[in-house]
Amino acid sequence: MIVVKVGGSAGIDYDAVCADLAALWQQGQRFVLVHGGSGETNRVAEALGHPPRFVTSPSGYTSRFTDRETLEIFEMVYCGKMNKGIVERLQRLGVNAVGLSGLDGRIFEGKHKDSVRAVENGKVKVLRGDHTGTVERVNVELVNLLLGAGYLPVLTPPAVSYEGIAINVDGDRAAAALAVALSADALLLLSNVPGLLRAYPDEASLIPAIPANDVESYLDFAQDRMKKKVLGAAEAVQGGVKRVIFGDARAGQPVSAALAGAGTVVS
Ligand code: ADP
Repeated sequence: MIVVKVGGSAGIDYDAVCADLAALWQQGQRFVLVHGGSGETNRVAEALGHPPRFVTSPSGYTSRFTDRETLEIFEMVYCGKMNKGIVERLQRLGVNAVGLSGLDGRIFEGKHKDSVRAVENGKVKVLRGDHTGTVERVNVELVNLLLGAGYLPVLTPPAVSYEGIAINVDGDRAAAALAVALSADALLLLSNVPGLLRAYPDEASLIPAIPANDVESYLDFAQDRMKKKVLGAAEAVQGGVKRVIFGDARAGQPVSAALAGAGTVVS
């Protein structure tokens, strides 16, 4: 069992990811796909006159401030356009994919964080009305039910809070929680870069391997959103996943290439 997370940044080739996944699925390999949609969400949010607001925490993590309107736009894009677009591609390739969000059947469940500490103009402020959280529980029974019946699950944020409210969660960390819950053999985090770069954006500075017991010390190389991927990788290997691979989803056969060791391999 392999968990594949494909991001939502510009340049990702979803046709290539789906074609590769479909070929491997038809050979008998089993997957769960988790996807993002940040690039498209930003574009739609601008078009709807509610541009995204990104905040940086005092410890340097960047996240989307998700008020109710942002959450609804987020759902339109992630659960709608992105999820159904991927399911359609897989269906056209002969794979019976089922697209669900973390809300459905409480697949991804976690604590709702209503406020966030953010650094703005050098000062730390507390912003309220945030619909965010972190995945703490995964409904593996539902995912296994689908897999056991021959469906390829295509999963996306948001998650659901313990009170039943939709919350925006990081897709990389949700995929890591899923990989741990499923005891996956590998977690692939595919994005629009060759892997973790020592000197971003210099692609020649790719870090080919990271020892599983030292992932956190590589956090220093990751800026902004890449930090969440490194954190997700650390959580996955600490939870027993043997291999996490940061791979390139811009062309070729992204899943096969990552499984063959291209990118940054954490093991
Ligand atoms: P996705 O939405 O595809 O999951 P993110 O945008 O969340 O991806 O994170 C990937 C981005 O992280 C890259 O496009 C790159 O701009 C940025 N990044 C920051 N630091 C690094 C680094 N050291 N190595 C690779 N990418 C990095």
